[in-house]
Amino acid sequence: MTLSKKLTVWARLLLGLFIQLLGPNGSLAQTYLLRPDRVFDGETVHENWVVRVKGDKIEAAGPAGSVSATGAELIDLKGTTLMPGLIEGHSHLLLHPYNETPWDDQVLKEARSLRVARATVHAQKTLLAGFTTVRDLGTEGADYDDVGLKQAINQGIIAGPRMVVATRALIATGSYAPKGFSPDINVPQGAEEADGHDALIQAVRRQIGKGADVIKVYADYRWGLMAEARPTFTLDELKLIVEVAKSSGRGVVAHAASAEGMRRAILAGCETVEHGDVGTPEIFNLMKQHSTALCPTLAAGDAVSQYRGWKKGQEPEPERIRQKRITFRQALDAGVTICAGGDVGVFSHGDNARELEMMVQYGMKPLDVLRSATSINADVFHLADRGRVRPGLLADLVAVTGNPVTTIADIRRIRLVMKGGTLYQR
Ligand SMILES: [Zn+2]
Repeated sequence: MTLSKKLTVWARLLLGLFIQLLGPNGSLAQTYLLRPDRVFDGETVHENWVVRVKGDKIEAAGPAGSVSATGAELIDLKGTTLMPGLIEGHSHLLLHPYNETPWDDQVLKEARSLRVARATVHAQKTLLAGFTTVRDLGTEGADYDDVGLKQAINQGIIAGPRMVVATRALIATGSYAPKGFSPDINVPQGAEEADGHDALIQAVRRQIGKGADVIKVYADYRWGLMAEARPTFTLDELKLIVEVAKSSGRGVVAHAASAEGMRRAILAGCETVEHGDVGTPEIFNLMKQHSTALCPTLAAGDAVSQYRGWKKGQEPEPERIRQKRITFRQALDAGVTICAGGDVGVFSHGDNARELEMMVQYGMKPLDVLRSATSINADVFHLADRGRVRPGLLADLVAVTGNPVTTIADIRRIRLVMKGGTLYQR
């Protein structure tokens, strides 16, 4: 980015923040009439619709002519598709790509202040890429820093997406740490260790008390000297975590790659399974039966394979990628609800569209991918105030040049980003 372009971006952000200060309290609430070529409302596509925004909410949406233009500033979005602000289902704003710094070194060597400083930039890039909400699934050793980051965004101190935060995440003792150290050394873990009845209840409640919107557990991991993912918590431990979280109105999401880790997470009542790389048709049927959603994180596995030396496009796909294509197909065939979430942080923040493109490459229709990234993510994450273009919902909107329903890559051609009626990119 050139300096002048950077300055322009900042000027826009400052303008956005200024408008936000004026906006929400009535008399100065800005009213816009957005006129794109078409509107994807989170479920279906409507040609020649317009959307009226007042303050931080969508006031009306429908065919041009059926929606009043009186008193509204017209924003002509010719050549674009207008959609609900995209929802990233799996991010780590406190991580940066592993080809820049391996995960182990981020956890062990980077100061928390450095990690937070980076995260503020990650938040801005995410928003400007059209992702107005993220479900941020763990700080990876940075304690409760996601809570402060969320507050900084909500208070208008920095620009960023709305955040659903998991705080530290829960792991069974010794199961999620930087590798390669003598067993005589205690290495800090990437999440909070807790086991057994009392300690788990306390850990879940402590995380909730400090700001967790959702509880994240690692139901399996590459653990000890074994190279393969193996289950960590017992089924009873997972059930207890779900019971305690649920009694406070919060859901539980499970990292699980192995079939047995997935099975326990599903039976325990976790709402989403993250990754699910080595699922089986039987496990995906179980997910369908229990209405457990899958967040496939295709882009993370793809990125990690490339970091390990795979020359994508020049060399055949490694076994891990071939297997992922097969298991993702099995999940689709079983009718499992698919969330959109890339595990961003493993790869660059702001490049969130990579997951959506890969979902198409791995067999989903672009329209279904767009539903996953908007209305389905909103439903699965219990975010009833967003994810659709509908009167009364938050005016979180994005316009892209072209038509991502036919060409998913158009999702990157950002023309306008609005969050809560505030323009961040125009
Ligand atoms: Zn993750």
